[in-house]
Amino acid sequence: MTTCFIADLHLSADRPDITDCFLRFMSEEATQCEALYVLGDLFEMWIGDDDDNTFHRQIKGAFKALTESGVPCYFIHGNRDFLIGSQFSRETGVTLLPEHTVIDLYGTPTLILHGDTLCTLDENYQRYRKKVHNPFIQWLFLRLPLSWRQSIGRKMRSNSSQTNQIKANSIMDVTPQAVIDLMKEKKVTRMIHGHTHRPAVHQINKDDLQATRTVLGDWYDQGSVLRCSPMGCQLETRQFPDA
Ligand code: MN
Repeated sequence: MTTCFIADLHLSADRPDITDCFLRFMSEEATQCEALYVLGDLFEMWIGDDDDNTFHRQIKGAFKALTESGVPCYFIHGNRDFLIGSQFSRETGVTLLPEHTVIDLYGTPTLILHGDTLCTLDENYQRYRKKVHNPFIQWLFLRLPLSWRQSIGRKMRSNSSQTNQIKANSIMDVTPQAVIDLMKEKKVTRMIHGHTHRPAVHQINKDDLQATRTVLGDWYDQGSVLRCSPMGCQLETRQFPDA
């Protein structure tokens, strides 16, 4: 009995090494799981479910095979793939979950999320996030021709890597108080998220809250999986296949 969590794969056609590691994980490991949770940034970029190409079909096929084999699969949007929508869900059998979701993980209520909502000191990003999560703005964007959306997406991708290089480390990480406030609001003592690419298990002992915050690793240099069972949770890595 194992539940797996992954995040921040940033899959793209330019990184076949990540894709290979992911596809191997899906066919050899995820099939043995009780459930798979993907906590955002599965894709480096997602500009709409109608952006169908060989690469996307390959990834969607892996999810479809998994859910059809009887392993339930859940997805929470990241800041790169927040436009994954109902068509993707229908094509893959993956269930889309709200940004902050509490699940019962072997008896422990556990809050799962991507993690970008915890980075409250990054005010520019939070302003941007509010805009791009506005349903009307999304509705408008998705009606632009695919080629326009592709070029907007490429531009945003290069802008974001430039600005992130000059942002302070503390701004890029979660705000400790935001973590505590959200855990209290959701009445949980365990939280699992990605986004910061700083895999770790943090023990929190503050304001009469004793809690655990587990951060998933990214998939830039290796695969990264959190495996949970009734005995506990373990952060693990997976080597990329030899190039
Ligand atoms: Mn992210």
